[in-house]
Amino acid sequence: MLPRTPSLLTEEPQHESTHVPFPHRGAHRLHEFAALAMVDIVDSATRSRMMSGIRGRNTKPEVLIRSLLHRQGFRFRLDARDLPGRPDIVLPRYRAVVLVHGCFWHGHDCRLFKWPQTRPEFWRDKIGRNRANDDKVRAALLAAGWRVGVVWECALRGANRDIEGVLTRLVQWLESDAPGFEERG
Ligand code: ZN
Repeated sequence: MLPRTPSLLTEEPQHESTHVPFPHRGAHRLHEFAALAMVDIVDSATRSRMMSGIRGRNTKPEVLIRSLLHRQGFRFRLDARDLPGRPDIVLPRYRAVVLVHGCFWHGHDCRLFKWPQTRPEFWRDKIGRNRANDDKVRAALLAAGWRVGVVWECALRGANRDIEGVLTRLVQWLESDAPGFEERG
């Protein structure tokens, strides 16, 4: 029913032990793995509660973007819990935040998004609230003087994906003064 996590990370620098920019990343990944491993041993209500807890945090498209930016020399703030929406990719030097949105959870108007067949009211409510929250977070970040870039999952998945192009435009934006940026498939 739910879209599978895309496997984009074939090039993740797991062996580059000389620089370990995210000491917490392993823990997050373990957390994610643990949640996936539990899929078989809990009922669907419990599972959906657990998944909602980890939704949007260190999903693979996000890790991909962070990994690519890191290779380009960009460095991030490791703990952004004080910022609206607790964004995972925060670049203080560029006064920029990059949000990588999963198309399902954020209700994107694109080819990746389909309303689930079951429990339509639940999903309309859930995704409607997520979208409202996205608007709120974006406004709060802008109001606090952050520049906000959004990269949609659909820009990174599927036959037409152009990850290099996305990265190029993202870097151009980071090095510009433009307040906003959006990349979609
Ligand atoms: Zn999309």
